[in-house]
Amino acid sequence: MTTNAQRTIIRGGHVWSGRVDERAEQDVLIEGDRIVAIGARGQLAADDALEVDAKGATLIPGMVDAHGHLSFPVVTYNTEIEDTPPEESILITMHNARKMLDAGFTGVIGAGSPRLRTEVVIRNEIDAGGIPGPRLMPSTPTLTTTGGLNDTGQLHQKRAVAAMVADGVEEVRRAIRLGYREGVDVVKINISGDDFFTRPHGRLTTMSLDEVRMAVDTCNEYGLKAVAHARSAESVKRAVRAGVHVLHHADFCDEEALDLIEEAKDRMFVTPTVGLYHGLLYNSGYPESALEKMMVREALACNIATHSELRKRGVRMLIGGDYGVAFMPNGTNAKDVENLVTYLGFTPVEALRAATYHGGLAMGLGAGEICEGGLADLVLVDGDPTADATLVADQSKLRMVMKGGQIHRKAG
Ligand SMILES: [Zn+2]
Repeated sequence: MTTNAQRTIIRGGHVWSGRVDERAEQDVLIEGDRIVAIGARGQLAADDALEVDAKGATLIPGMVDAHGHLSFPVVTYNTEIEDTPPEESILITMHNARKMLDAGFTGVIGAGSPRLRTEVVIRNEIDAGGIPGPRLMPSTPTLTTTGGLNDTGQLHQKRAVAAMVADGVEEVRRAIRLGYREGVDVVKINISGDDFFTRPHGRLTTMSLDEVRMAVDTCNEYGLKAVAHARSAESVKRAVRAGVHVLHHADFCDEEALDLIEEAKDRMFVTPTVGLYHGLLYNSGYPESALEKMMVREALACNIATHSELRKRGVRMLIGGDYGVAFMPNGTNAKDVENLVTYLGFTPVEALRAATYHGGLAMGLGAGEICEGGLADLVLVDGDPTADATLVADQSKLRMVMKGGQIHRKAG
């Protein structure tokens, strides 16, 4: 059989599939956008294929950030997102999309964009081949209630808030139908507040169970993914009972919330987002008084308690969480692999699995595992990232990034 599809062979290194714990000495043949053969080192014949030297390196599945904010303009103050004009937002999102792919991220699940079409138009242009970027599941602006997280409105001025403010089940349903019409894949719902804002704080639950259920049910009807910002224990319970696809944060879980997540672990994913606390404490430059006011150390302790426990219970975790703010810019997201090891007791393999295989499952596009027939979204990393959790965050160690069989970047 002859074919015109481009063929690439990645030869002479190790392969880590994403699913199993061990690496293997294997070569991988790619044709078109798919992995077509995996064989023992030196055993695959592919004379006509472009050869990539993998000696001393490990081939892993492309990474997925499950809580992406590609539209963030290096946020340094609370209302900066809505203050950024739409035209600038588009350019920022476009540049960040390329930065993510440069950094080995072949997938991003949106977690709130400033306007309904900001990520949609970038997804469309990436898919059309016009600009480089990961597979992107565009998100709505966060769906919140009046006075909920991201409702930055004030009575005395007409502010265009970077959120969809909806109260009651009918407004929630309408907002999601609007998102569907405008092309999103993901609806981000804010069920609790957040300690980084004066109000509502992270232990306050702001969206009613009826509203959460309506959001998830409507998403399911339209084939969209509902993802939730939920820090308080009650917000976690509402998210899980309603059936959200991805649960973000979940810091302040009580025993009942942990049990509910465990019961739902085969149908949902959790993003610990512990990296934001690490960034705040060590890279933000915020004065101690500000960190104290936001109760960062207390929240970090709760986050560690929750997610160490969820890890033990076999809950599927993802990486990502508010990369895009000034002290953790887009493109540095792979630091989360190390964060899961440092803070939550993951082994490097488990953390890498959160970044790759679980991310692929959460996106549901057939990527995230190196297997015959799988999408060729791949990263070639110098050394052994299954033993050293810091490697994937060092872009000088990424020898090649491939998305859909196309080499995006390659050392040398
Ligand atoms: Zn976020």
